[in-house]
Amino acid sequence: MTKKNKNKKNNVKEVDVVLIGAGIMSATLGTLINELHPSASIEIFERLDEVAAESSDAWNNAGTGHSALCELNYTPQRPDGTIDISKAIKIAEAFEVSKEFWSYLVAQRLIDSPDRFIRSIPHMSFVFGRENVDFLRKRHETMSKHHLFQGMEYSEDHELLRQWIPLIMEGRDSEEKLAATKIDIGTDVDFGELTRALFFHLVQKKGIKLRLANEVRDIERANDGRWDVTVKNLTTDKKRKFRAKFVFIGAGGGSLLLLEKSEIPEAKGFGGFPVSGQWLRCTNPDVIAAHHAKVYGKAAVGSPPMSVPHLDTRVIDGKTALLFGPYAGFSTKFLKNGSWLDLASSIKLGNIRPMLAAGMDNLPLTKYLIDQVRQSPEDRLNALRAYVPTAKKEDWELEIAGQRVQVIKKDEKHGGVLEFGTEVVSSADGSIAALLGASPGASTSVSIMIELLARCFPERAKTAQYLDKLHEMIPSYGLSIAADEKLCKETRARSAAILQLDRTGEMVWP
Ligand SMILES: Cc1cc2nc3c(=O)[nH]c(=O)nc-3n(C[C@H](O)[C@H](O)[C@H](O)COP(=O)(O)OP(=O)(O)OC[C@H]3O[C@@H](n4cnc5c(N)ncnc54)[C@H](O)[C@@H]3O)c2cc1C
Repeated sequence: MTKKNKNKKNNVKEVDVVLIGAGIMSATLGTLINELHPSASIEIFERLDEVAAESSDAWNNAGTGHSALCELNYTPQRPDGTIDISKAIKIAEAFEVSKEFWSYLVAQRLIDSPDRFIRSIPHMSFVFGRENVDFLRKRHETMSKHHLFQGMEYSEDHELLRQWIPLIMEGRDSEEKLAATKIDIGTDVDFGELTRALFFHLVQKKGIKLRLANEVRDIERANDGRWDVTVKNLTTDKKRKFRAKFVFIGAGGGSLLLLEKSEIPEAKGFGGFPVSGQWLRCTNPDVIAAHHAKVYGKAAVGSPPMSVPHLDTRVIDGKTALLFGPYAGFSTKFLKNGSWLDLASSIKLGNIRPMLAAGMDNLPLTKYLIDQVRQSPEDRLNALRAYVPTAKKEDWELEIAGQRVQVIKKDEKHGGVLEFGTEVVSSADGSIAALLGASPGASTSVSIMIELLARCFPERAKTAQYLDKLHEMIPSYGLSIAADEKLCKETRARSAAILQLDRTGEMVWP
């Protein structure tokens, strides 16, 4: 019996690619692979009975098209008082790449109208107190010199701020020291809608199968170097094996547990620290209508960067919404729909030292999260009133946000460090890769996946055919939008025209 027939008899299905998880990351990687290599067979497994129901769902994340226009944690102040904008430049560039790819998909009619998932909204930073105002002024001076951030306005003038953010300014002391920046090229993105559009496109392709309510239980190296992925169908309770040449673990918070199962040496020493989140969601249509911006503040001292408070105008399911938060919290679950045992199950001999070391080094963070969990509804209202002084309790209700698992990494000096970014971990032969961490996340998904492909398929990524296709999808590929002002302007203008980013107001929802 040939090997192939034997596998058939054992009910092992052979495929080129397995994608685990149906969030924005697998959707993006699957679409890129399909465009670059249309004949590749792909199986996608999702444990829930719908796609984009974890972090990629619009209500579970903030929907900010992160391009460093308003997020103060991307522009730290150096000890000498100057502002470091290097991270902001990287993130702004990566978001342009995402917009280029989405523009390609829209222009090719591979996904539906862009008004379902992206729209323009001013991005603003807002601070109070002398020290923070000084920081914001310096940040604006530094950033506005760079073409990526051109058009950013700064003001300390209460009258002008009242025009920009009436809801935030109403009921404030006219002597209060305040400042804000505003830039109109920001975006609100419904990553859930985008994910659904990408999968809707993918499942119509020959050789691509999306299996919902199918949970990946194990990943083992087969004798021939491929990967055996054991999947449990949660409807029939039956298990089945899939043998793949390449596996991507895009299971969001669940990625660490699956990566550990693969037993690749590169996964040793990685741990995860779960951080949960909550929002206040406005229920009063008049209050919702009184605000039109994404306004990011400064994180409290000692708090993690992902808990920066922000008051966000969103468009979800075609309706304008207003969210404030996130309030951070601690939970041992790695997914919103996960198990309380997730954290305990992730602790292995290989990562116990880094996890303990990171825990000891981050005691203030643990204390902060515990304090956040103990917040009463009044505490939450008071935090909101720093941004909306006239907020009434009855106009806001509590919503549970998505779960983030921050990466803990081995570190020579400290034993282990807690990271707040994303990390791609892959085997030396490039046959398996996982995405750990959460930020800046969905906004930079396209750049992350292009880098992942180059790392896992280095030879193929050098071929003319591959590069030509990549240039067709992302015309700025290989060039630098950050270094070339003309290219930046052209790229932004093309994306804005295709993605119809001059639209305002609610979308027409069929
Ligand atoms: C509170 C919050 C705010 C955020 N705000 C922003 C923002 O403003 N802008 C931004 O760009 N990003 C933001 N992010 C980050 C962004 O949401 C994530 O980076 C992104 O959604 C991650 O996508 P993903 O596909 O990796 O994971 P997910 O969307 O979580 O998808 C993973 C999928 O894998 C499935 N899965 C897990 N285990 C298994 C298994 N064993 N078998 C099969 N399936 C499995 C899960 O059910 C899930 O559907 C935010 C995140 C949070 C939590």
